[in-house]
Amino acid sequence: MSGVPLIDVQAQRSRLGAQIDARIAAVVQHGKFIMGPEVGEFESALETFIDDDQVTALGCSNGTDALVLAFQALGLKPGQAVICPAFTFIATAESVAVLGGVPVFADVEPEGFNLSADSVRSAAKVAAEQGLEVVGIIAVDLFGVPADYQALNAVGNELGAWVLADAAQSIGGSHDGKKIGALTTVTTASFFPAKPLGCYGDGGAVFTTDPELAEIIKSLRVHGKGTDKYDNVRIGQNSRLDTIQAAVLLPKLSVLDSELDARQRVADLYAEGLAGVVETPKLPAGARSAWAQYTILTEDRPKLQAALNEAGIGNAVYYPKPLHQQSGYQHYHLDQIDLAHTDRLTSRVLSLPMYPYLEDTQIEQVIETVKAALQ
Ligand SMILES: *Cc1c(COP(=O)(O)O)cnc(C)c1O
Repeated sequence: MSGVPLIDVQAQRSRLGAQIDARIAAVVQHGKFIMGPEVGEFESALETFIDDDQVTALGCSNGTDALVLAFQALGLKPGQAVICPAFTFIATAESVAVLGGVPVFADVEPEGFNLSADSVRSAAKVAAEQGLEVVGIIAVDLFGVPADYQALNAVGNELGAWVLADAAQSIGGSHDGKKIGALTTVTTASFFPAKPLGCYGDGGAVFTTDPELAEIIKSLRVHGKGTDKYDNVRIGQNSRLDTIQAAVLLPKLSVLDSELDARQRVADLYAEGLAGVVETPKLPAGARSAWAQYTILTEDRPKLQAALNEAGIGNAVYYPKPLHQQSGYQHYHLDQIDLAHTDRLTSRVLSLPMYPYLEDTQIEQVIETVKAALQ
């Protein structure tokens, strides 16, 4: 047996390679490398995909800049606090901190991997006692699973705070038929190659239901431009999506739905094959996941990792160190906020191979190896 990679981003090329290469060649031919026609075409295609009249999609340079652009547009000021999960990728909090904001780490739900509305409520109380002004909440759709936007938007309303969706891992997912991108006022996406919708380099997007925020973000991503590019009405940055990346993303977006079906099929086979062996991920009712990762929980992680490595099966711990324990960020941690669920996940999570083009024999090999290691 030849082993199974954690993610094979090249597997899609047998399906789309020729189309993608033709679109890249067209950009090379017309030469409009910055804000060329493919960027607008991709933004329109994203809006059609999200299928909500209120939503504007704006391409940008990567998922981290998408967050920064969103916070700038929302008016985040130095010293203001934003509540985010302690269990996420660093960019979630980094983008707050880089603007001088104060990330406040809250816990995830007892079941699942996403921010807990109850923990946000208690974290907001602790933050207020410390004299912090809480202006926003970042929900992260970790591993592709939509966060509980109904509960989180309700807490946001209670606190007078905006709710942003860091959907770097979940574009294509939905809840009760409403797509990620339309579940809260501002949503950010990443098209890093290994994400469910990945380009051939860096890329990202911001989605918003607020036309005023959309106009500000359009300006911010091109140096705070006004009516023309040498009229600068605000302090912005260079955060555009490359034309070539938009060209790569267009054919990829057109198969995203069918790829998510294929990922769901892999998830179903894993759930069936691994029942009773490890704790497999469960989706909230009405949720569709983008399955950026298939992450199981086990008490015997070192043993399982050793067996997977031995068999050449890709696996990874996302994330081995929660944000409140990162040396660059631990000074933000407020001791009174309980992060027990985050700490529990950190020692037990393990992600298994997940991509749409996994073959039955590979899925079977993963299941058999996990079973043999733990039974
Ligand atoms: C990947 C990721 C980001 C950052 O995206 P980049 O495109 O790599 O900058 C932000 N948040 C989360 C949760 C991510 O997984």
